[in-house]
Amino acid sequence: MSLSSLPSSFDTHLGWFETLLGPDHCLTVDSDIERYCREPREKFPGRCWLVVRPGNRDEVVQIMAYAFQHNLAIVPQGGNTGLVGGQIPDESGLQIVISCERLNKIRSLDPVGNVAIVESGVLLESLQKAAKDAGRFFPLALGSQGSCQIGGNLSTNAGGTGVLAYGNMRDLALGLEVVLPDGRIWNGLRSLRKDNTGYDLKHLFMGAEGTLGIITAASLKLFPAPLDQQVAFAGLATAQKALDLFSLAQSHASSMLTGFELMPRMGMDFVLAHLDGARDPLAGSHPWYCLVEISTSSPAVDGPALLEAIFAQAFEQGIIDDATLAQSQQQGMDFWALRHGMSEVQKREGGSIKHDISVPVSQIPAFLDQAVPACQAAIPGCRPVPFGHMGDGNLHFNISQPVGADKADFLAHWDNINDIVHAIVVEMDGSISAEHGIGTLKRDLLPGVKDPVELALMHQIKQMLDPKGIMNPQKVLAHPSDHSS
Ligand code: ZN
Repeated sequence: MSLSSLPSSFDTHLGWFETLLGPDHCLTVDSDIERYCREPREKFPGRCWLVVRPGNRDEVVQIMAYAFQHNLAIVPQGGNTGLVGGQIPDESGLQIVISCERLNKIRSLDPVGNVAIVESGVLLESLQKAAKDAGRFFPLALGSQGSCQIGGNLSTNAGGTGVLAYGNMRDLALGLEVVLPDGRIWNGLRSLRKDNTGYDLKHLFMGAEGTLGIITAASLKLFPAPLDQQVAFAGLATAQKALDLFSLAQSHASSMLTGFELMPRMGMDFVLAHLDGARDPLAGSHPWYCLVEISTSSPAVDGPALLEAIFAQAFEQGIIDDATLAQSQQQGMDFWALRHGMSEVQKREGGSIKHDISVPVSQIPAFLDQAVPACQAAIPGCRPVPFGHMGDGNLHFNISQPVGADKADFLAHWDNINDIVHAIVVEMDGSISAEHGIGTLKRDLLPGVKDPVELALMHQIKQMLDPKGIMNPQKVLAHPSDHSS
């Protein structure tokens, strides 16, 4: 937006930022700014008058100290792949986006200690590659790994397909470096596996979605690289049988079970219709599919034999109706591509009402038994596409519009369908946001599902760390003293 329509003090602010960072890293022209204001689902149109791109931690410190002094609202942003609008400025045009993209150094990588210290703007894929080059493995894996950044992964406590064996981002972080809203720096960049010295503050900043400070670097766990990975694809009659297969696979493979994903036939139909090169791994049609991955790190373990034993027993017990084991690494990747493509292809089938829920793993079939008919009763002809990380109890419970329906009419049911699904989730002691966060999308749902004492503590923590309400205002919490521009 043009500076001339803003308060005259903004001219002074711009001059200060340009002196600090250089004009190339202070973007004010609409065509430069646009990509920082649009998010993947295009649900939250944002505007801002300035995007700043600091190149190191000390510049972030100075930016925050200045913003604190002058009451400027700041929106931190990583790779801008978030799905709940947490990284997008509001529509006032008065906020400043601070992009972490130039904080992109891997400061150190220690393959003996199994620790990497990385800045927040490092791409997830770059860290995966650096670990691999050092003979190690960084296990976080997401559809957006080529463009999402470590800082965003930490701020949203990202999950993805590796959680079953390695945990989510909270489980992978040993320490953080954080610039606080008043410009102080907390150096918590420890790499210790054991450290019982009081409150564990790093967990406040992970999952805070940039509302408490800006993570500038992290100390992250690495693992031995798997020697061998085996992938299989199975067709099943019911979600209960998928749960039975999960239980069987776990008892055979234990911690070597590194992936267990559930997909419905409707999702397969969408992928086969819209994903380039997609092929059905199985001959017939099945109501449900499971992708099973095991990883071995010891030459003493025969991966293919282990997976074959699991599926032989599953056949014998009538759990699966058909299955195929990937015969090559490429075929394994092709199976995964079907699963990873499932999110994207839903756009091609019109409107889609989204949920990112989790329930206790053993409750997944019961959840589906209730939620699918409830949605179909509310919108006759709608097409549920529940898929995702069954081994974590996390489903992307998405509902596609009826064939031929009007997209806008269908999407008008968004809140009603959310209410129906979330009521079932809450009844099962589940979560309305398993891995995407709260952001703007679910902010107003939070008070209805969070324990009141927990919610009150969250507001008190926000007030203590960000007393002026300048740090990603109105995200996660509708906090009373946040900037409400
Ligand atoms: Zn997911």
